[in-house]
Amino acid sequence: MLVQQIPVNNSLRNYMYLIACPDTLEAVAVDPLDHERCLSQAKSLGWTIRGVINTHEHHDHTGGNEQVIAATGAKLYAHHAAVDKIDHVDIGLQAGDAVHVGSSLRLLALDTPGHTFCHTCLYYEGSETATPAIFCGDTLFNAGVGNCHNGGDPQTMYQTFVEQLFVLPDATRVYPGHDYIVNNLEFTISREPDNQAALSLLEAMKQWSGETHFISNIAMERAINTFFRLDSETLVRILREQYPAMPESPSAEEVFLKLRELRNTW
Ligand SMILES: [Zn+2]
Repeated sequence: MLVQQIPVNNSLRNYMYLIACPDTLEAVAVDPLDHERCLSQAKSLGWTIRGVINTHEHHDHTGGNEQVIAATGAKLYAHHAAVDKIDHVDIGLQAGDAVHVGSSLRLLALDTPGHTFCHTCLYYEGSETATPAIFCGDTLFNAGVGNCHNGGDPQTMYQTFVEQLFVLPDATRVYPGHDYIVNNLEFTISREPDNQAALSLLEAMKQWSGETHFISNIAMERAINTFFRLDSETLVRILREQYPAMPESPSAEEVFLKLRELRNTW
């Protein structure tokens, strides 16, 4: 699998992706908001865009569909429940559906509600020579998770994480829909001031200028993403100091929901 991560350079810090079959150089464009940049990158790489995939229905992920499709004739894929929310969807994706790209690349659609109820993540299973990868839209971010206030639900998001994301192989590369890593690391550190992995990564991030192009994997998320660390002693101790009504051993769901609520106003 060939991957090009393309920052949009907008205030929302969107990422779009080109994902290509190494054998045929046929590609899909994921959430191609900045159509000019997406098309010019594909051209300079020599990749032919055959499909556009939207992870979900929000405009900052669908805004470039029309122009990319007009320029390439690509088919549009999105969550099956998004067909009446996104214009001109050709293929509605159900959980477990495969998107075939070129001759040798297969992306699996995961049904991942929470940020919205029409959200799909795309999973690449990997091979003997390639690690797995997930294109996770606004469900999972580096060191954080998506918000739920534009059509989503935090409890549903928690179930998605338990059933589909916490269980991913450690080596899975994480390709999110936005670059929020610095803010998210700062949030993790605010909840777990002794999280050395998050502290050193934040320090490293601050040394970098401009586009970060930082790719984490699930093992790293388990260390730096407070939403993956629901049984951390420090996290629970600090939450209980702040919320004395919280039980001594709160459930993972209780901790997740409290973190999601705190992140909304942090
Ligand atoms: Zn969104």
